[in-house]
Amino acid sequence: MKKTAPDKDIEKPAADGSAVVVGASLSGLMAGIALAREGLHVTILEKADEDRPGGAGLQVDGGLFDRSKTARYLRKIVTDGKKSIKLWSTLENRLRTEVQSYSTIDLCFNVRVQTVDQDNAAAWAETDEGEVFRADILIGADGHRSQVRRHVAPHKPDATYAGYLVWFASIKEESMPEGERPGDGGPSVNMLGGINGGFFFGSVIGREDGSPGSENRRIGCTFYDNTRNDQLRRLGCVQGNVVHHSLAGPDIPDDTLDKLADQAYERWPEPWLSATLKALETRNLTGIPIKEYVPDNLVKGRIGLIGDAGHVPAPITASGFNESLQDAAALSKCVSAGVQGDAGTKALDKYESLRLNKVRQMVESGRGFGMSYGRP
Ligand SMILES: Cc1cc2nc3c(=O)[nH]c(=O)nc-3n(C[C@H](O)[C@H](O)[C@H](O)COP(=O)(O)OP(=O)(O)OC[C@H]3O[C@@H](n4cnc5c(N)ncnc54)[C@H](O)[C@@H]3O)c2cc1C
Repeated sequence: MKKTAPDKDIEKPAADGSAVVVGASLSGLMAGIALAREGLHVTILEKADEDRPGGAGLQVDGGLFDRSKTARYLRKIVTDGKKSIKLWSTLENRLRTEVQSYSTIDLCFNVRVQTVDQDNAAAWAETDEGEVFRADILIGADGHRSQVRRHVAPHKPDATYAGYLVWFASIKEESMPEGERPGDGGPSVNMLGGINGGFFFGSVIGREDGSPGSENRRIGCTFYDNTRNDQLRRLGCVQGNVVHHSLAGPDIPDDTLDKLADQAYERWPEPWLSATLKALETRNLTGIPIKEYVPDNLVKGRIGLIGDAGHVPAPITASGFNESLQDAAALSKCVSAGVQGDAGTKALDKYESLRLNKVRQMVESGRGFGMSYGRP
């Protein structure tokens, strides 16, 4: 049976009102849950299809210092409150299942928002097909190239390229030569110095039910590279100072794959060497140009930003997802008095006052690395 909000464990009256959330990746789904738990009716709009692929592994904190009930609740959904490395697809799946259990959340896929706007009484999103979704507040959870940010921070609409990329290779353990598999007793995480002062991370990402055995277990290898700026610009991944898209496996030039294989032979120990070679051979890797965004503001009137739409830290901070969870928790606290009329702008002002300095510091903490390693 679908949950109505507020959930059983919240002992207070439901807040009035409604919210539109743009983006249904990790931040958008967490925002939807956080707002619905406070009693709002939530509509989440996502441009992608429901069945999209997603390979990267994220380090998720255990939540030792989580003070709010909503933060603990979200943490329980994603990792049962344990610090761990999880595949993006696992996190997304768990959050989406939770969202779909609420009768007060409408989750819409294949809906691309083109513009957002607001007046004194409401905020709204208009899609590329001319459909308009109105609500008391609107939350942009639409990632590092956020459309909603153009409305909230028109003076600073873009995240900027940090001058390096991160290769992310991911393969099924089963596809490795039998003698080279990490197995149940092998290393589960390894961090090594990389090329030119970068890093290499290897991780074994366990299967959903946590049982031993290599079936469905994935090996992830992530390594930094600051030598590809011209290539990224030539291939259109970076235009000017703005990242437009990642470099997908099928689009990586052959000679780049050869050079990456040479580097792997020189530097990576087993089992990561075999895993990287297999990923290169099958083009199961993606080059992700790293971008950064230090926000001046997170809110304008009744429209606010959450997750990578609001702040983009370097992956070295391992905090993009973790801080997005804190954004969602802060949002739920701020809307508990309702969002209709002036209450909507007051709630979002409070959200900005709780989050802006923290997320600015978080992004700044990763910028020192980018400035010494990256070559914009
Ligand atoms: C290499 C790498 C490693 C990382 N490692 C870690 C880590 O170890 N730990 C950690 O905490 N974080 C990590 N992060 C950061 C983390 O992945 C993100 O911060 C987190 O996933 C939150 O993303 P998001 O939901 O805000 O944005 P996104 O995942 O970008 O989602 C935005 C969503 O909005 C949708 N959308 C965009 N535009 C529109 C539109 N116009 N209309 C409708 N929908 C739209 C998109 O389709 C997408 O679904 C890492 C990031 C990178 C790049």
